[in-house]
Amino acid sequence: MIIKNPYTYDSMIAMEGRINWHINDLCNFKCEYCFFPYFTKENPDVGKLSPAEILDAFNKTGRQWHIYIAGGEPMMYPNFIELVNTIKPYHPIMISTNLFSKNVRAFAEQVDPDNIIVINASIHIEHHTETTLLKFIDNYHLFRTKGFNIITTYVTHPPLFSKIEEDFKFLKDKGVEQVHPLTFQGVFEGKKYPESYNKDQLRIIEKLSVEKMEMFTALDQVNFQNKLCRAGMDYFFMDIQGEMYKCGTVLESCGNMFTGTFQPAKAPMRCPVSRCNDSCHGVTSLIHKPTTPQVDPDFKHQVLNGYEKLKTLLIE
Ligand code: SF4
Ligand code: SF4
Repeated sequence: MIIKNPYTYDSMIAMEGRINWHINDLCNFKCEYCFFPYFTKENPDVGKLSPAEILDAFNKTGRQWHIYIAGGEPMMYPNFIELVNTIKPYHPIMISTNLFSKNVRAFAEQVDPDNIIVINASIHIEHHTETTLLKFIDNYHLFRTKGFNIITTYVTHPPLFSKIEEDFKFLKDKGVEQVHPLTFQGVFEGKKYPESYNKDQLRIIEKLSVEKMEMFTALDQVNFQNKLCRAGMDYFFMDIQGEMYKCGTVLESCGNMFTGTFQPAKAPMRCPVSRCNDSCHGVTSLIHKPTTPQVDPDFKHQVLNGYEKLKTLLIE
């Protein structure tokens, strides 16, 4: 697969079949802002099927999938290296990891970067001490040396705004080439985010973003209700048991990948909800992607935005 820029969402847009796979629950971190509940034990269904059985299930659909693997911490999946090595010759992979479990170095040594589009390494700065931060950076460089595309993501938790730019500079000075701010979504000190970001904070997020589509989430412009979306047709959220949901927000099942009952919709659907929680997967699944919003839209952008809105109304 030829990708113009592995650090943006181009690869997702280029593929018709896309799966956001929640592969496991267990994580070695306990971030305050985590989307998911904290688990002390792994889900008993994790690793039940062999990598060959999982590949077989994907292949039986007759499609080539772009598979985004997230957890939990995917590197804690029991035979993760074997799983990735089995799947990736057939289906391009993206992995979201904290790059800090004991299995990280073995992964870099035993997996060829070919057909791994990008490793999304979340830094979770509040979790690190000075020593563990340097270890994270070492892991980053190991992956770069082995030829992986790797991007570091940094969650914009409100207390970090006084040092976020300094942290980005520190990482850049340490040779971390790609660092992207990931919008915090949740409640902090009684305020809901992203709606409570002030303009200065939004400008910082915009300035630091590698993929400007981040601004849909940062500016809280994720209401795509009634817009035509490919979720359920060629984008799916898949859980540990292989259940295929229309998306991570509209949890209507389209059957199960592992039991062979998966049945995609034949046509796009109109988004039924007023808030899309699928962030990049949601935006990239829309049939007519809206213009990426800006904090301080210039005149040209406003005209373009108006034109795009009109076009969408006429087409849809
Ligand atoms: S590393 Fe990721 S999955 Fe683990 S607790 Fe932090 S945010 Fe949650
Ligand atoms: S826009 Fe988002 S919430 Fe709506 S159907 Fe698409 S992926 Fe699901």
